Amino acid sequence: MGRLIIISNRLPFSLDKDGDKVSLRQSSGGLVSAIKSYFENASAQRGGEATENVWMGVADFPQEDWELVVATHAAEQDFSILPLFVDKDLYDNYYNGFSNSVLWPLFHYFSSLANYESQYFDAYVQVNQLFAEKLLPLLRPDDQIWIHDYQLMILPHLLRTKRPEATIGFFLHIPFPSYEIFRLLPTEWKKILLQGLMGADLIGFHTYDYVQHFLQSAKMLLGVDSYFHNLQYQDRLVRIDLFPIGIDYNKFHQTAADPETEQLRNKILDNFADKKIVFSVDRLDYTKGLMQRLNGFEYFLERYPEWREKMIFILNVVPSRDTIPAYNDRKKMIEEKIGTINGRFSSISWQPVIYRYNHLPFKELIALYQAADVALVTPLRDGMNLVAKEYVASSLGRGVLVLSELAGAASELSEAILVNPTDTSDVASSIVRALAMPLYEQRNRISLMQRRIQEYDVFKWVNDFMDQLAQVKQEQQKQKVKLLDEKVITTIRRHYQRSRNRCLLLDYDGTLVPFSRIPSEAAPDNAVKDLLLRLTADPKNHVIIISGRDLSSLDRWLGEFNVTLVAEHGASTKRRGAAWQQMVSVSDLWKEEIRRIMQLFVLRCAGSFIEEKTNTIAWHYRNTQAGLGFSRSRELLNTLSQLIQNTTLQVIDGNKVVEVRIAGFDKGATALKIIGEMDPDFTLCMGDDTTDEDMFKALEGEAYTIKVNNGASAAQYTILSQQQVLPVLTLLTSELPEPLQLPKTKYADS
Ligand code: UDP
Repeated sequence: MGRLIIISNRLPFSLDKDGDKVSLRQSSGGLVSAIKSYFENASAQRGGEATENVWMGVADFPQEDWELVVATHAAEQDFSILPLFVDKDLYDNYYNGFSNSVLWPLFHYFSSLANYESQYFDAYVQVNQLFAEKLLPLLRPDDQIWIHDYQLMILPHLLRTKRPEATIGFFLHIPFPSYEIFRLLPTEWKKILLQGLMGADLIGFHTYDYVQHFLQSAKMLLGVDSYFHNLQYQDRLVRIDLFPIGIDYNKFHQTAADPETEQLRNKILDNFADKKIVFSVDRLDYTKGLMQRLNGFEYFLERYPEWREKMIFILNVVPSRDTIPAYNDRKKMIEEKIGTINGRFSSISWQPVIYRYNHLPFKELIALYQAADVALVTPLRDGMNLVAKEYVASSLGRGVLVLSELAGAASELSEAILVNPTDTSDVASSIVRALAMPLYEQRNRISLMQRRIQEYDVFKWVNDFMDQLAQVKQEQQKQKVKLLDEKVITTIRRHYQRSRNRCLLLDYDGTLVPFSRIPSEAAPDNAVKDLLLRLTADPKNHVIIISGRDLSSLDRWLGEFNVTLVAEHGASTKRRGAAWQQMVSVSDLWKEEIRRIMQLFVLRCAGSFIEEKTNTIAWHYRNTQAGLGFSRSRELLNTLSQLIQNTTLQVIDGNKVVEVRIAGFDKGATALKIIGEMDPDFTLCMGDDTTDEDMFKALEGEAYTIKVNNGASAAQYTILSQQQVLPVLTLLTSELPEPLQLPKTKYADS
């Protein structure tokens, strides 16, 4: 296996110089804790496979200190470092500017704090480019690149354009906001950011909601739609999935038994022997909701005076980003608020809040986690929040977690007391509930949460991500559709000539005939008719026209031929020489509501129109102004998807058409049924649209599948345009030797 290259904004340590003494200090923050734990525990990596680990990031030390760092770092063999040295002003605009004064506030729903300076964005692009320029010459083909977080959202694309085959994963450690928030970014920026991410093969988020938000933005802004967790972007499969980050559970759990930690813990407990301890530790950040928490705590002291003198609140704030005004101002506000609370409620022998503004040594942090009767973790937004998980992991069977419902961790830690951090009285009453919780209930809740956190720890998280990344690469490989060339044509032709019972499954619009601006005018021309006559004249052939069209159109155009007709993707079928068989007979009342909505979209989008079939109702936007039609179609898809949830209907994003139909019928199942009845010794299947993909998948290994137009597909082969369909079919099915020449059309004609 090749190298694992982790790329994050910063290297995971900073350089401390004190006279001659030099040391490296591990940076605080979720990402660093997680990956460092993973590197340290080499035996847990991908089944213990040997791999070289590299960490790339911006150095916070000057270039002249590089040798010093290498010497100091040499003691740590877990990974090698690849530093990037960035000019201070440029870095400031990229990091404090775009990353932390635009993306951070916006993605955490503090849109009013976002400062859309164009020099910030320019610097962001430039620094992402510097990362790419430094890495590209060093890359090896089997490297696995894992890019982390919001500072490097453009990097996947920059690497991809130069290394189309590279293996690139991206993980976002902060929330991905809802589309309505994301769209606040200037138009060009948001497209560049999304396209940037799409350079990755796998994009990971902490929660299901973030995945959905991202998919929605990709749909609205880039026009790519998802199936399951996959997107087809520029002919490449990109997978989007959730990987809720874990912690090194055993490290936290075992440190609990460590004698030094025990000593520290006992000291804290002795100091507050007759008091319950409420504990918080957060970076100084407005997203952490410190002011709201203090308001809640103040209200708690006011509303529940019986708890005064019986508890203390230890509040540890870890310095962070103090050069950004929004952070520095907050520090003053928080400290003033703490002063107010202590001034208001302290007695000679008791002070309610013990406040410290510092970095905590690891063992002291664990000792505090263990000593705390209650952990108060109430961010206003948090991608995940590791403190919550660490508190639970460190517990020796007691303690209560009060957790914000707006933290990503809330979706996994449902046994915590979940609160809305802005609801002062909710916070206050949750503190009371937590303080008064009986021991057996504490134990019960903690152990349920511990089991879950232990199960999906940081090693599982990394391995899960890396496994998925490998899987996506395999699927991409499988998806590479081969252009139908002379060799394949010869093979198919030989098989055709040898066979006695053939099934030819052909899509209609976009395959046998070109798309027509008006669907009712897509009648077959003489060339199609001649071909059908020739094919059906051979008793060894069974031609099946398998279409999304309604039965009367198919009847009108193709009823004269000795073929099987499949209308509306399988809802109606007419076997050769037999009458139409309707597979569905439900009332069509459902169409009324859908029609009403589609009519609104017809009004809002000139040139679009509705087509009604027996089991389908479709909104076509082929004849509309390109950009408008497309964006309206995204809105319509969105509206319809919401509307049909929990119904037996299905919405399909076709080629310039949005369709709603009764679920349960697709071309795949229908094709399988037909060839099941026929038991052919030769099957050929051709189609161009999303719905034909169902056939290609269902007939894998059973048929020669050919997709019309380039683009990723489950089909085995592709031809570049509809104009090639008749010549190809003629070549494949003619008994006489013919020159194997295809018309020269370069690209799709859709
Ligand atoms: N932490 C730290 N130094 C401290 C206090 C805490 O490194 O003095 C760690 C803590 O153990 C946790 C991380 O910082 O792993 C905070 O992660 P979280 O997801 O809670 O918040 P973030 O800071 O990433 O927004």
